[in-house]
Amino acid sequence: MKLTEKQLQQIRTQIKRVKASGNPFYTERFKDVNPEDIKDRESFERLVPFCDKQDLRNAYPLGLAAVPEEDIVRIHSSSGTTGAPVIIPYTQKDIDDWAVMFARCYELAGIGKKDRIQITPGYGLWTAGIGFQAGCEKLGAMAVPMGPGNTEKQLQMMQDLGSTVICATSSYALLLAEQVEARGIVKNIKLKKGVIGSERWGEKMRNRIQSILGIELYDIYGLTECYGPGIGINCTESDAGIHIFDDYIYTEILDPQTGKPVPEGEIGEICLTTLVKEGAPLFRFRTHDLAAFVTEKCPCGRSYPRITQIMGRSDDMVKVKGNIIFPSTIEDVIKSVPGTSSEYRAIIEHEDGKDQMTIMVEVEGGIDRTEVALGIQYFFKQKYNMTPKVKVVGIGELPRSEKKTKRIEDKRFN
Ligand SMILES: [Zn+2]
Repeated sequence: MKLTEKQLQQIRTQIKRVKASGNPFYTERFKDVNPEDIKDRESFERLVPFCDKQDLRNAYPLGLAAVPEEDIVRIHSSSGTTGAPVIIPYTQKDIDDWAVMFARCYELAGIGKKDRIQITPGYGLWTAGIGFQAGCEKLGAMAVPMGPGNTEKQLQMMQDLGSTVICATSSYALLLAEQVEARGIVKNIKLKKGVIGSERWGEKMRNRIQSILGIELYDIYGLTECYGPGIGINCTESDAGIHIFDDYIYTEILDPQTGKPVPEGEIGEICLTTLVKEGAPLFRFRTHDLAAFVTEKCPCGRSYPRITQIMGRSDDMVKVKGNIIFPSTIEDVIKSVPGTSSEYRAIIEHEDGKDQMTIMVEVEGGIDRTEVALGIQYFFKQKYNMTPKVKVVGIGELPRSEKKTKRIEDKRFN
């Protein structure tokens, strides 16, 4: 993606500022970099080093603070499912900027002051709940701050308060939708839109949530290291691309192996640079999220650049018999076989000297399970010249989760 003169100026200013701050994390990174040498995209890519989650972890607890202590008003922490957590300090301006972006996300999704927004992501150290909340208040809509879990109460409030927007992870939105259906309360539900964040989800899952609840769904993007959710969303005109707010963030898409930009329109790893963040600015942060730039201009007319839906994680990408397999690869195959649900698991093992993949899928009652298994094997053989084992179970038998679910499990290196 092109770097504008304004963005280059912002990056130079940020580097000068963090170098002058005396913060060891940043001064070490930029000790050999003269900000004035960053004149264009090429020199930016050459001079500004990548930053990884591990670098941020090493700065635990408050090593990322690039402003004096009295300017820090809040911290958030990333989930820390692997290793030590990352602590991100925020200034008041960072909090305000995040709320502005988040309110903009709601607007792009066609949500306004008269909406009632039921927020189910978690509050606390996580950026999720409080981000949805701050954006909602900035917008002027009514927040229904539920937090996660307690499905009974969620459904009751949804009906009694007439929530028009549900904010959730895709797994939890599906769980709620299935509960609404099972209880026959669709007619009591006033939901019009869902704002779905934080994990990769497939077309089938989207269709299932949409068909039960009859709502429009929006993909919100973001991560704790970079404000939180709310740095981009798809708009009402197109669900093919997520607008990223380039007045706050510069986005690159890189080959995960080489770190070089992929040709525009190809899938790669999203890499983010914050342009005005004060508390813990990011420079070329490797997100491990996979997406591609959408190059066509959006019908909505907004000029914010667009990326596709998140295709998965670069760490989820597995190589089996010479094929690169993403969660989306498996979803595409399952999608083409009638009677399957959107849920699946894949396990890759090393057996008898060979790599073997097992795919578990759910099917509706009355569907011939052998036929489904053969169908999936057929499509895999056609597309990837390999035949997975297939285990077919009934709808609801694979675990649902209120948290992120890891669908591909590689047992070969354990
Ligand atoms: Zn648009």
